Amino acid sequence: MAHVNENYLKLPGNYLFADIAKKVARFSEAHAEAEIIRLGIGDVTRPLAPAIVAAMHKAVDEMGQAATFRGYGPEQGYEFLRRAIIKGDYESRNVSLQADEVFVSDGAKTDVACIQEIFGNDLTFAVADPVYPVYLDSNVMAGHTGDYNAAKKQYDRVVYLPCTAENGFKAQPPKEKTDIVYLCNPSNPTGTAMSRRELTDWVQAAKENKFIIIYDSAYETYITEADVPHSIFEIPGAEEVAIELRSYSKCAGFTGTRCAYVVVPHACKAYTADGRAVALNPLWYRRQCTFFNGTPYVVQRAAEAYYSPEGRAQCLADVAYYMENAHIIRDGLQNAGFTVYGATNSPYAWVQTPNGMKSWDFFDLLLTKAHVVTTPGEGFGPHGEGYLRLTAFGTRENTIRAIARIADLKLFR
Ligand code: PLP
Repeated sequence: MAHVNENYLKLPGNYLFADIAKKVARFSEAHAEAEIIRLGIGDVTRPLAPAIVAAMHKAVDEMGQAATFRGYGPEQGYEFLRRAIIKGDYESRNVSLQADEVFVSDGAKTDVACIQEIFGNDLTFAVADPVYPVYLDSNVMAGHTGDYNAAKKQYDRVVYLPCTAENGFKAQPPKEKTDIVYLCNPSNPTGTAMSRRELTDWVQAAKENKFIIIYDSAYETYITEADVPHSIFEIPGAEEVAIELRSYSKCAGFTGTRCAYVVVPHACKAYTADGRAVALNPLWYRRQCTFFNGTPYVVQRAAEAYYSPEGRAQCLADVAYYMENAHIIRDGLQNAGFTVYGATNSPYAWVQTPNGMKSWDFFDLLLTKAHVVTTPGEGFGPHGEGYLRLTAFGTRENTIRAIARIADLKLFR
């Protein structure tokens, strides 16, 4: 008799965005005339940059010629891309890396969900609350948690790090014993970002308490403040205690093209049960060689083009476009009386619901009265209750119209 992985049964419902999609579909069916604007899911709307499209065309032509055709590539990515990453994302910030510390993949969601596999089955992990749901759900599926406690809306055996207005929505190092900690900086969903000082404290805490930081910097291109590091490896010593994940989804519009990478420094080590230090890099290499046959050549050429002067300039122009949307959301809602966080180093605005309204109720109100789709904060964890996340990835026109519609509800009169 085949048994199911019962850890899956602990998950209380669908993936958050599947629930939202269902609600929106139900509303649309009943109100076909309503013109819905989506500022919910963090998907981009700007097309790929011309330099990236040109590189893809060229790579497709190469694949069509016997002399330049490529079959399976290196599991950890072509050297041309890994070198471009090191030069463009790290040496430019005085961080030196070796090519075999970089692992190219087909998306940060895959990496974030799978990285826990190289740690012990008995691991204890910590996540910010609210949090990008994949960190938590992937560990639930792997059996790293207890049951879901419906009253607390939390899993047993997980260390939650509350992010509230009082602590500036910044997770503080755990006091409990923890083996790995997921940190997203700038944060999805709250849009806030930790400073150099704060990250230095995290690295110090990881060294003292021997935990590993899984550092997700999917939104690093959106950083505008000088005091916010773009990579955790800008902090001295972080290479001993951190793994960094990056994605081309939000910096180069690759949500449908799919490319990302993980940096596992040689110096980063965890321990066997009898206390022997083991480097994590060969473990991730072994894992990738077994489970993954590489990111498509055409896509890796596309990612490489992101680092060309034209590619970078074109992508940064798109990031600036989204950041202007973020400011339209932040300023427009603040003028309408809302309290808004984020949207300074991030394409996300974290908006307090009016008059203590529950986040799903406010989501429903905006859907039914303004025809604007948002993401209820509670979907990201219990401390997200009382907030909504709005994304700046819409078109300019839709962003302006959505904010005008919300302001017209005059909820603070
Ligand atoms: N990490 C964070 C914090 C994200 O918000 C997202 C996507 O929204 C991802 C990872 C996944 O990125 P990718 O599209 O590369 O899978």
